[in-house]
Amino acid sequence: MKAMISMSMVFDHVTLGQRVRFGSDRAADNLAAEVDRLRAERVMVIAAPSEAALAEAVTSHIDVAVHHDDVVAHVPLDKAEKARTVAAEHGIDLLVSIGGGSTTGLAKAVAMNSGLPIVAVPTTYAGSEATNVWGLTEASRKTTGVDDAVLPTTVIYDAKLTLSLPVELSIASGLNGMAHCIDAMWSPRADPINRALAAEGIRALAGGLPAIKHDPQGLAGREQALYGAYLSAVAFTSAGSGLHHKICHVLGGAYDLPHAQTHAIVLPHVLAFNAPAAPEAERIAAAFGADSAVAGLQTLRCALDAPRALREHGMAAENIAEAAELVLPAVPESNPRPVTRADLENLLRAAHSGTDSAQ
Ligand code: NAD
Repeated sequence: MKAMISMSMVFDHVTLGQRVRFGSDRAADNLAAEVDRLRAERVMVIAAPSEAALAEAVTSHIDVAVHHDDVVAHVPLDKAEKARTVAAEHGIDLLVSIGGGSTTGLAKAVAMNSGLPIVAVPTTYAGSEATNVWGLTEASRKTTGVDDAVLPTTVIYDAKLTLSLPVELSIASGLNGMAHCIDAMWSPRADPINRALAAEGIRALAGGLPAIKHDPQGLAGREQALYGAYLSAVAFTSAGSGLHHKICHVLGGAYDLPHAQTHAIVLPHVLAFNAPAAPEAERIAAAFGADSAVAGLQTLRCALDAPRALREHGMAAENIAEAAELVLPAVPESNPRPVTRADLENLLRAAHSGTDSAQ
């Protein structure tokens, strides 16, 4: 195949500094090494009750000053303040989060006020551990922001910790990672570096997720998915939010829909809408090893039996028009094609009912 050389390259890329320690069955050793390296003496471990067993195993080689398990999805402000108080009362010098995006999010809420470093040990494929994005919820309104103080100093990946994540949630969470990759292709700060990371993320997730479905207790698929999830988050935090993330942010915030499933359901509709106008669609197709980007994602979703309809996850049809109205002002200028209110309503209607997008 002949390599395509495009016009001159001009871009301004920032790479965030973070250590990644990756290895199955090594989290406890890697955490002890990081606590040593950071000379931490007062460690606060944050993990939800459902993540407690994982946290116990991972912290077996370190001294813990306090365990904090009051973790709630989307980081309500009162929970953030409670965790900040606990950290201050115990004279904490290192935060260790062990869990999914909600747990990482709570550690970030503490770090953003205190400047404390975080060692993140993720147990899902959400990717929050590799971003400098925080989120807080107050009175049902979710606010997000960017602050380098919340970027974990170190991420410790151990695929063994994800074996207990149920297959359906693994798939939805992995497709959340896939959404980071695909959206990064046309996000406002998309550039050759974050697109390269996103393409490799698509390849890794497209290989890893079917392996998880086929063999949920096998480590090979879980390792590929974690690797892909990391790449997806690095690409996303660098490239910024594209159309897909703007839609999901509105849906999650306004109608309290589950994060990973919402991303998994909306993604094929955004891809079907943008692909005909996006030069990057070819690259997405190549990363899937498919004839087209849409076919690549569709084939993967069929193999995974991925979630299909927002109506099955709590969205009411009456909210479609309002959601389109809320998304419209947030549509990024970088989107490969113009987006009208009618386009958004069509897209949301298809995602709501689970029918294929006819764009
Ligand atoms: P989650 O953290 O809410 O976890 C979902 C459920 O799975 C929870 O009950 C959790 O305790 C459980 N769980 C986690 N790991 C498990 C494991 N290995 N085994 C068994 N159960 C396990 O869900 P999520 O999808 O990981 O994260 C979603 C949240 O993360 C949202 O609030 C989202 O906004 C945020 N997020 C933030 C960023 C960012 O950059 N700031 C990026 C992605 C997601």
